Amino acid sequence: MLVLDSFEYFAPTTVRQALALAEKYRGRSRFLAGGQSLLPMMKLGLASPNVLIDLNRIKGLEYIKEAGKWIRIGAMTRHNAIASSKVLAEKAPIMVEAANQIGDPQVRNMGTIGGSLAHADPAGDWGSVLIALRGLVQVTGRRGSKLVMIDKFFVNSFTPRLRSGELITEVRIPTPPRRSGGAYVKLERRAGDFAIAAAAVQLTLDNNDRIRSVGIGLTSLGPTNLRAVKAEKILTGQLPTAEVVEEAAKAAAAESKPVTDPLRGSQDYKRAMAAVLTKRAIMMAVSRARGGG
Ligand code: FAD
Repeated sequence: MLVLDSFEYFAPTTVRQALALAEKYRGRSRFLAGGQSLLPMMKLGLASPNVLIDLNRIKGLEYIKEAGKWIRIGAMTRHNAIASSKVLAEKAPIMVEAANQIGDPQVRNMGTIGGSLAHADPAGDWGSVLIALRGLVQVTGRRGSKLVMIDKFFVNSFTPRLRSGELITEVRIPTPPRRSGGAYVKLERRAGDFAIAAAAVQLTLDNNDRIRSVGIGLTSLGPTNLRAVKAEKILTGQLPTAEVVEEAAKAAAAESKPVTDPLRGSQDYKRAMAAVLTKRAIMMAVSRARGGG
């Protein structure tokens, strides 16, 4: 039988109130966003906060907007809102592609980008996509806000770089320049499941068709979402020939750190898939940067 411990519930209407509550109940409270990870954990007894601080009544945390050289996404923006965003479809379609592959319709309707990052599941899709896009996470505490590079955000599995009581308020990505393309390629046991492995690639080509810049993020292939640093180096400044792409994909597999699990397969299988998925994602990203589909 599942037993839910009792807890106090608050529904603040401003970020300020939420932060004040978090400070008052420091160490005993959890923020509640879409509830798609927290509530299952509470039901399973893996989390038992004394106080829940529901973020859903706070206005102004759900938005997607272009501002200068950035696209800014409010922390409470649902996966589904990202899936149907015109701004993202035009400027950073990899976000739309990834959102459509998260969970099932209910998870996408309720789950938020901020909640997903705060949960810091190495099988979460957003971390890898933001690594590929070189995104930033805005973290707000009682003393103000700071921007944390996505590379610094994941400390370990289920351990984000958030101090007790700190709130993710926004995610920012640099608006990709022209001749950019991205792809999120995910292998799952069945639609709606977490990734066995996945690769996010975002790149920009120069006028000579060389890769000017590239970001590669890997999902379910290590203790956190990972950047494939060596693979990025192999590609940068090169023409995306079959040989170069193959070499980069192999490097991504070599720098991945998957673990065997009874549900989704062995370490060797996942590493082999890392190469296949990275290669596919690079080729798709190149084709899209050239204006293809
Ligand atoms: P919640 O569950 O409300 O919170 C999660 C954690 O983050 C809690 O510790 C909470 O206190 C904290 N938190 C929430 N918001 C903030 C904030 N703004 N600042 C600081 N801390 C915060 N995810 C994938 O990426 N890919 C999948 O394929 C996928 N499949 C799923 C399938 C199922 C059946 C389910 C139930 C979930 C799946 N998920 C998947 C997870 C889903 O994306 C969740 O929405 C996400 O992990 C958590 O977001 P949430 O808004 O629901 O957060």
